[in-house]
Amino acid sequence: MLKNRRIHLQRFFEEYSLAAVLFTDLRNIRYLCGFSGSEGALLVSPERSWFLCDSRYTAQASEEVHDAEIRECGAVRIDTIAELAREYHLDRVGFEAAHTTVSAFRRMSEKLPGIELVELGTSLDEIRIRKDRDEVEQLTLVAALASRSLTAVLGSIRPGVREADIALELELEMRRRGADGTAFDFIVASGVRGAMPHGRASDKIIQAGELVTIDFGALKDGYHSDETVTVACGEPGTRAREIHAIVRTAHDMAIDAARSGISCKDLDEVARAYIRGKGFGDYFGHGLGHGLGLEIHEMPTLSPRSVAVLEEGMVVTIEPGIYIPGFGGVRIEDTVVVTGNGCHVLTSADKQLLVL
Ligand code: ZN
Ligand code: ZN
Repeated sequence: MLKNRRIHLQRFFEEYSLAAVLFTDLRNIRYLCGFSGSEGALLVSPERSWFLCDSRYTAQASEEVHDAEIRECGAVRIDTIAELAREYHLDRVGFEAAHTTVSAFRRMSEKLPGIELVELGTSLDEIRIRKDRDEVEQLTLVAALASRSLTAVLGSIRPGVREADIALELELEMRRRGADGTAFDFIVASGVRGAMPHGRASDKIIQAGELVTIDFGALKDGYHSDETVTVACGEPGTRAREIHAIVRTAHDMAIDAARSGISCKDLDEVARAYIRGKGFGDYFGHGLGHGLGLEIHEMPTLSPRSVAVLEEGMVVTIEPGIYIPGFGGVRIEDTVVVTGNGCHVLTSADKQLLVL
């Protein structure tokens, strides 16, 4: 299965006449060979592949790494890469420019004389843009785990509770249910703090009548989930109800429109046009969504500037919002997998305005 993923590299070998591609980004390495540790490199040629790590990781690599020869390196990994390049005549090697520091690049150029290093920008990350069956299964699992965890802790949202305590309880619940950790620092933003799209859980005490936006996700076996609900802690006002209804409709319309073949820009516009029509266009400042998988933010991006087109197997978030300074905000987010004729929603917490 993992070997099949290397098919995505074929076009890079051809387009850039490469003898090999060197990966150092751990997400790409995990995707291509299964290694989940925190340091290593993967060198892939059309015929064979080598996984390079130091002695701390050889045991883990021998358990996890598929379809690559494991080479233990000494203190300087690049020396082992130079040896392999000489032995197998790898004279033109592509590398992940987007994940390489200037100093690492200088070191590579110095240690690999006579080898042409070819910068491959973020295009290399595109190998992960469409998820295969195994990945969709993992993403489905982690999304369900997180949604159920949120549902289980909704009861503890009440006036007098700190935002940070909601975040903590949610994290504990996820871990109890088998999560390896959180996908990101949860956003729990109540009352006027709801106007901050990225208002991380603070010491603020939740008051009666406030809206509370909770943006949360779990991490399991390298895969992330991402979902947002906005609930009311006691009876909200008319304006809060109105804004929630607008965001919810925009969210539902975008989910209905998501399918293979629609451009990410057009999908963004479905939700944006509706919010604009209701007079809140200036208060929806971010893009409609983003891809996710081994990273919490991956390609494609759904925004007015997107150039990508949705394809079957892409997993993206749909997350419109309205944020009004001095008042508060609403965001509603689901994660969907794009299918041939629509999309399938992976996240399942209730998106109605729950009054707790
Ligand atoms: Zn989110
Ligand atoms: Zn998101």
